[in-house]
Amino acid sequence: MKSTEIRNRFLQFFARHGHEVVASSPLVPANDQSLLFTNAGMVQFKDVFLGRDRRPYTRAASAQRCLRAGGKHNDLENVGYTARHHTFFEMLGNFSFGDYFKRDAIRYAWEFLTGEMGLPADRLWVTVFEGDDEAARIWLDEIGVDAARFSRIGEADNFWSMGDTGPCGPCSEIFYDHGPGIAGGPPGSPEADGDRYVEIWNLVFMQFDRDREGRLNPLPKPSVDTGMGLERMAAVMQKVTSNYDIDLFQGLIRAVGEVLDLSDLRDKSLNVIADHIRAAAFLVTDGVVPGNEGRGYVLRRIVRRALRHGHRLGATDPFFYRLVAPLIREMGEAYPELARDQAHVEAVLKQEEERFAETLSQGLRLLEQDIAGLKAGGVIPGATVFRLYDTYGFPADLTADIARERGLSIDMVGFEREMTAQRNRARAAQSFRGDEVVVAGETEFCGYEEVSVPVRVRALAAGGRT
Ligand code: ATP
Ligand code: MG
Ligand code: MG
Ligand code: MG
Repeated sequence: MKSTEIRNRFLQFFARHGHEVVASSPLVPANDQSLLFTNAGMVQFKDVFLGRDRRPYTRAASAQRCLRAGGKHNDLENVGYTARHHTFFEMLGNFSFGDYFKRDAIRYAWEFLTGEMGLPADRLWVTVFEGDDEAARIWLDEIGVDAARFSRIGEADNFWSMGDTGPCGPCSEIFYDHGPGIAGGPPGSPEADGDRYVEIWNLVFMQFDRDREGRLNPLPKPSVDTGMGLERMAAVMQKVTSNYDIDLFQGLIRAVGEVLDLSDLRDKSLNVIADHIRAAAFLVTDGVVPGNEGRGYVLRRIVRRALRHGHRLGATDPFFYRLVAPLIREMGEAYPELARDQAHVEAVLKQEEERFAETLSQGLRLLEQDIAGLKAGGVIPGATVFRLYDTYGFPADLTADIARERGLSIDMVGFEREMTAQRNRARAAQSFRGDEVVVAGETEFCGYEEVSVPVRVRALAAGGRT
C-alpha cells in the first residue's frame, strides 16, 4: 500500500466517523512564539484545546507536516542512525475537542489498524501511562488486548506535552513488532530504543494546560489528540523494516543517486540527504530563509549537513537544489504549495549551497589535519570546533556529525567557552558604542537545550524565538 493511499485512507476513515478533514498548517506556527516549528498535528489546534478558539466542528483529522529539528522535540541527531526518525515527517492525526475521550479514541485506533489496515493483533503492543487505570481497563477488558503485549510506562514516554507550557496529558501508545532479527526490545524494556518495536501511534488524552510555573491546570473539556507517523505506518504496510525503504523515500534516494551519479544506493548518507531535502524544501516553502539565528539557523544547519553528506559521496557541483523537482514528484500532489513555489525554493537552496561550497572543503581539510592524530574515542578540541564555526561556517552539530562517524566526539564545553569569549569581545565593542544590541549568534543554540548552553543564551532562547 503506497504512502499516498495510507494518507487518504486515514482521512477517509475519520471523515466517515464524523471528523472534519483539515489541511496541514505550515511548519512555522501561526501566532505562537513559544514554539520553533510545528512538531505535531495538534499545534494548529492548540487554542481550540485551550478553549480560546472555537470551530464549527468538534472532531477533526489531518495529515500534518512536522519538523523535529530544534526545540523540545529534536530528532536531527537520530537521522542516519535510526530507521524510524526523520527531521521532516507527516503526522496523521484525529482530534476530539471536548467530544469523545479515551474509549472512542482507543476504539477508532484499534479499528483502523486491525480493520482498515488489516494488521494482525499479535504484532501490536500497547502502552498506557502508569497511573491511567481507565485506559488500561479499556484496552484489556473492552478491546481484549493480550496482557503479554501491554505495559504501563512512566511520565518520560507516556505523558505528552507540546512544549514547556500548553496542553498536555497522559497517553497510550501503539507499537508494531517488526520481528526478531531487528535490534530492540519491547516498550518499557531496557532495549526499547531500537528499531524492532516501533512506535506507530500516540493517543494523547489531553486533560491539562501546563503553566509557566509547571502547574497542571485542568482543561475546560477533556480532549483527544493523536499522532501516527505516516512513514512508519508505510514501512509496516510495505513490509519493510526501515522508513527509508518505503516508496516515497526510495523515489527520493534514487534521485539522489542520479544527481550524484552513484551506483550504490545503500550508503546512509543518501538517507540523510533524502531526509534533509524534505525538511529544507518545506521550510523554504513555509517562508524560512537560511540565516544565523532562530528558525533560519536551523534551516542552515540542515542544509549544511546535507551538503557535507553530499561531499562525502563525492559531490563536486551544486546538487541539493536539484532534488526539489523529484521531491515534488513524490509529494506535490498532497502538498500543492510545494509545487507552486518550486522556482523560489530551488533558488534559495542553490544560493545557500554556493555560499557554503568553498568553505566546506577548506574546513574539512582543516578538520582532517586537526584530527589526524586522534584515535577512536578521542575528543575534537573546542578551539577546532570554534574555528570551523567561526571561519568556515560549520555549525557545531555538523562537526559533531562528522566526529560521530569516526567514533570521536566534540568538546562542547570548550566550544562554548570560545563562544562566550567571542561574545564578550563583541559586547565590549558594542558598549563602547553605547548600543544595546543582541549579538548575532546568541540565539543560534536554540536546538541545543540538551547540552549545556550558557545561561544567558538559554534565557535569550526562552524569551526569543524558540
Ligand atoms: P519516538 O519515541 O519514536 O521518538 P515520539 O514518542 O517522540 O516517537 P510522538 O511525539 O508521540 O513521537 O509523535 C507521534 C507519532 O509521530 C509517533 O508515534 C511516530 O509514529 C511519529 N514520529 C514521531 N517522531 C518522528 C520522527 N522523528 N520521524 C518520523 N515519525 C515520527
Ligand atoms: Mg521522539
Ligand atoms: Mg515515544
Ligand atoms: Mg510518542
